[in-house]
Parts: sequence; structure tokens; C-alpha cells
Amino acid sequence: MAKHIVVLGAGYGGLMSALEARKKLTVDDARITLVNKHSYHQLVTQLHETAVGARSDRASRVLIEKVVNGKDIDVLKGTVARIIPDERTVELVDGQRLVYDYLVVALGSEAEYFGIEGMKENAFIMKTINQARLIRVHIQSCFARYAYDRRPELLRFVVGGAGFSGIELVGELADALPRLAAETGVDYSQVEIYNVEAMPSILPGFDPELVQAAQESLQSRGVRFRTGVAVAKVEPGLVHLKDGSVIETETMIWTGGVRGSQLVVDAGFETEPRGRAKVDAYLQSVNIPNTYLVGDCAFVLGDNGRPLPPTAQLAWQMGAAAGQGLYHDIKGGVKEAFKPVMMGTLASLGRKDCVGKVGRSTKLHGRMAYLVKEAGNWRYLAKIGSVFH
Ligand SMILES: Cc1cc2nc3c(=O)[nH]c(=O)nc-3n(C[C@H](O)[C@H](O)[C@H](O)COP(=O)(O)OP(=O)(O)OC[C@H]3O[C@@H](n4cnc5c(N)ncnc54)[C@H](O)[C@@H]3O)c2cc1C
Repeated sequence: MAKHIVVLGAGYGGLMSALEARKKLTVDDARITLVNKHSYHQLVTQLHETAVGARSDRASRVLIEKVVNGKDIDVLKGTVARIIPDERTVELVDGQRLVYDYLVVALGSEAEYFGIEGMKENAFIMKTINQARLIRVHIQSCFARYAYDRRPELLRFVVGGAGFSGIELVGELADALPRLAAETGVDYSQVEIYNVEAMPSILPGFDPELVQAAQESLQSRGVRFRTGVAVAKVEPGLVHLKDGSVIETETMIWTGGVRGSQLVVDAGFETEPRGRAKVDAYLQSVNIPNTYLVGDCAFVLGDNGRPLPPTAQLAWQMGAAAGQGLYHDIKGGVKEAFKPVMMGTLASLGRKDCVGKVGRSTKLHGRMAYLVKEAGNWRYLAKIGSVFH
């Protein structure tokens, strides 16, 4: 009898798991159900563009039905409420229960607030299209309100965190806000963009030469960096830093960290302190059988013994590996251990600049780097078969 594979989450990891499993397994081998909160797959890696209005909401997503069309994957729009491993069951918020033989958990991550007082209550985050939309509408409203109420804090924008997504957002703000100021008749010299980072430098882990190039590029467009100082507390209208200084602002956007989905912790998967599930070499849970965890909710160590970063390129690679693992679980044969391929990391700094590495060592920055990054986005869309949708 056909086995039932349930995939939770149609992000980079989940969508690829379902597609790869279906490529290998016939409908007689397995029925595949893909559960996702929305009817669309979100292009999370481009949300910094969505958040400033440089990309429409429509262009920030791909309809799941179109990707799986004709591929015998059942798509279920629903929100997972609980995973009950002892009963091999997933419960949805609307009460539906799905019984599985094999489970792939690809529910992504949540914001990590590191216990900073008031951050959760008073900061925006940017992990979904709806959150990016909220940021965009809020920024537009700040400019519109400034026409009637000349409070400087309306034009002061603070991004907390200078990792990958924080820097990409700062770059987009530096490109988009001059346009918005011109449209609303605001003198751009009144606009301030701050980036606050607890670590001594921006883009921790990046090559120092590229860090310097990124910093100079952004500073030349007016970005003010506060590195080496953590955010201590956020209140409505005020961001308090650990050195005692305070930034008056109506806009705090937090990009400072992520942790695994709480559903993974609640289900009893063995996790590390940031809520990501520990997995074996095949991406299967170390304590719960017949379950793969992929993407941001999995804790995987790289060759150097350090945890792999939460990235889309690793999420879809893990998804593909889980799909292949499921094939061997059902059809037999020898499973291969997951081997991440580091294709490089490129952080955009707005529309015309970008820094990073391709392969293991080729450093790039400038317009060329930006084009290489764009090509990567297209390559991903081609991989899931959605370029022409
Ligand atoms: C602004 C930004 C820029 C980035 N840029 C890059 C980049 O350039 N390159 C790169 O490699 N990475 C980048 N990343 C990181 C990358 O986006 C993530 O690592 C990637 O999205 C993780 O994929 P995933 O499949 O684990 O999770 P996601 O892509 O987040 O997918 C999780 C899915 O699960 C669904 N879901 C969640 N909870 C539930 C529930 N309870 N019930 C049902 N469905 C649920 C969600 O709706 C979503 O579809 C960026 C991230 C951000 C925020």
C-alpha cells in the first residue's frame, strides 16, 4: 500500500522535499501531502525589497498549485497546531488531523529576541510577505504624517542587526527612501537610517575586505552604523542602547536573529538552545523515527564542526536530500549522507551594489555581484519550475 508522506511547510525546504520525493516515487509508492499556511510559496530571500516597495507583493510569492500542478502532490492550505509523534499525527488549527508514515518538518524559523525588553512588542520583523507589507505601509505613513507633524523621529529608521537580512534591508532603505522623500516633498537630508549591531562589525563572518566595501557603500548613501553596542530595551518611540544612548524613532525593525519553529520544540524533538532540531547525517530527527527536519528548523553541523547558517540555498538542498532519503526509506537501497554545497553568499546593498563570495573563495562586489545574486534567484525559480508562472 502507498505510504503517506506529510510535508509541513512549503518554504524552500518543504517545497523541494515534496518535489524531489515525487520525482522519485510513484503514486503507488507514496501519497504526498504538502501543508502550508498560505496558498503561496514566499520568496523570503527578497522580502527586504518587498518591505520598501521595490518589489510587489505578487512578485514576492509563487502559487504552490502552479508549482505542483500535474505532479500528484496534494496541497493542503492550513496551519499546523501540533505534531504528535507518538500517534504519527499532525493536528491543524481547524481540527483536521493527518496521519503519516513519514514526516518532513520544514516550518522555518521565528524571530529570536534574546530576551530584549520590549523588542517583540515594539519592533517590526520581516519574515513573511505580510510582515514586509506592514513595514512598507508604516514607512509610507511616516513620510505622509511628517507633512503635518514635523517630528524628526518620523523620519528616523532603525534596523537592529547587521547580519545578512539586516544589511540587505538597510541597503534597500538607502535606495528607496530618497525616492519616497521626493514623492512626498520631504527634504531627504532630514531622513536618518541607523543600523545597530552588538558585534564589533557588520556582516559577522564575512571577509573583512568585503565588510569594509559594504560599510563604505552604505555610509556613502547616508547609513549610520552603531556597531559593538547591543539594543537594551525598546519602548514605543524609543530604542535604548546598552551604552546608555537612546534613539527616538517610530520605526524599529528587528533582524537580529532567528530560532527554530516553536512547534518543533513543543513536539518533543531533541533541539539545541535556539530551538533547531538535532538531526543525523540523513537529516532525520535524532530521537523521533520516520521524521526529517530541513531548513531553518534543523541544526546541522558543517565540515568545520560549526552549525550551518539558516539560508535558503541550504534549505532547498536539505529538502532535496530529504526527498531522496524518503525514496530509499520506501524503496530500499543505500541512503547518502547530506553534503551541503556552499555555492557562495551574496548580500545585496540595494539595487546596484552587493558583496560576497561565490564558490569557496571568489570575492565579488559591486554591480557584477548584484547580477550574480539575481541570477541565483532565477536559478532557484527554474529549479522549482516556476520561472514562467
Ligand atoms: C530578508 C531576508 C533575506 C534573505 N536573503 C537570503 C539570501 O539572499 N540567500 C539565502 O540563502 N538565504 C537568505 N535568507 C534566509 C532564507 O530566507 C531562509 O533561510 C529560508 O527561507 C529558510 O527556508 P525554510 O524552508 O526553512 O523556511 P521558510 O522559507 O520560512 O518556509 C517555512 C514555511 O512554513 C510555513 N509555515 C510556518 N509555520 C506554519 C504553520 N504553523 N503551519 C503551516 N505552515 C507554516 C510558512 O508559511 C512557510 O511557507 C534571507 C532571509 C530574510 C528574512
